Amino acid sequence: MIKEKKSLKGKSPSRRKFFKAAAATGVAAVAASSLAAPAVAQERVEAAMVATWPRDFPGLGTGAQRLAKRLSDMSDGRIQVTYYAANERVKAFDSFDEVASGNSQMYHGADYYWVKKHPAFGYFTASPFGFTYSEINAWIHHGGGQELWDELTDDFGTQSFIAGNTGVQMGGWFNKKIRSANDLKGLKMRMPGLGGQVLGKLGGSPISLPGGQIYENLVSGAIDATEWVGPWNDEAMKFHEAAKYYYYPGMHEPGSMLACGVNKSWFTSLTKSDQTLIKTACAWADEITMAEYNAKNGAALARLVNENGVKLEKFNDKVYDAFAKGAQEVYDEVQQHSDLAARTHKAFVKARKEIGSWTNLSDSPYISQRNRALGIS
Ligand code: CA
Repeated sequence: MIKEKKSLKGKSPSRRKFFKAAAATGVAAVAASSLAAPAVAQERVEAAMVATWPRDFPGLGTGAQRLAKRLSDMSDGRIQVTYYAANERVKAFDSFDEVASGNSQMYHGADYYWVKKHPAFGYFTASPFGFTYSEINAWIHHGGGQELWDELTDDFGTQSFIAGNTGVQMGGWFNKKIRSANDLKGLKMRMPGLGGQVLGKLGGSPISLPGGQIYENLVSGAIDATEWVGPWNDEAMKFHEAAKYYYYPGMHEPGSMLACGVNKSWFTSLTKSDQTLIKTACAWADEITMAEYNAKNGAALARLVNENGVKLEKFNDKVYDAFAKGAQEVYDEVQQHSDLAARTHKAFVKARKEIGSWTNLSDSPYISQRNRALGIS
């Protein structure tokens, strides 16, 4: 059983009173300074971090493991996080309940896996026609997104922080060309979250499977198609052995934000500095993980195409327009769920317009012009 350590808060009122009295009277300055060290020394914190990722899985698993280690490194070992990959302590999709119940203190995962608990969770990983990495960070950190996320998780006794991102995901692996929405009808495809529901609107059968189970289902034919992440991760999954058409871009996950969820009563029992340390480590994990995806995806894509015979295909406008129509139907339903879902959707749409109009004038045309002028494809 993991021992939950409490903060010094509540333990040291008499000591704090003493400092206050000493400062006020101007006496005992020497005594106060000699007591200062034990007053600021913090207790050892032990936490179990469960995860939705297989152990050592590139980017996702290794990113989570790196975060757990970073927490220890940042505190000179005072904060000890024992990391459990999927199935080592609980199954991947039981991670949320494990932390909400207080059995473990933290999880690393993608919050859209909890969309059946509340559809608003879909907005806090990636949602169809939603934000890219830089856009969702703008929304969460500076556009009111974290406040809505906090409101959502508060009902479950957890709190989530950004702790990684995969960037724009690929559209997925298919055994046939997708020329129109008709080609998606009856397709059994692994696609979680609200994106999966969009596929359902177009007549497909979305299936949610944790990463560790996708390959066997694709090889056996239990599913016809799958999305996962992008070239670096998908290459490691060896999907190219079972499907040859690799479509882009994925409308369903334009910048999948990974989350570190904490048990809220455990988290708030920590000192403010430990809370800040954990939040800062999560923000670091976000940046360093995204950087790793961007550094490795291009080379992995070249290997898939040049060495493994993968056929790269772009979804055409007709298919994309059908996705957009399906997405609107899904969002119409999500808003009916609850006041919080409706408010989250409204905030999402407003931020997408404001932030997206800037991306449209900055990143998008610049990259397009740079690559055109220099012949980078
Ligand atoms: Ca995905």
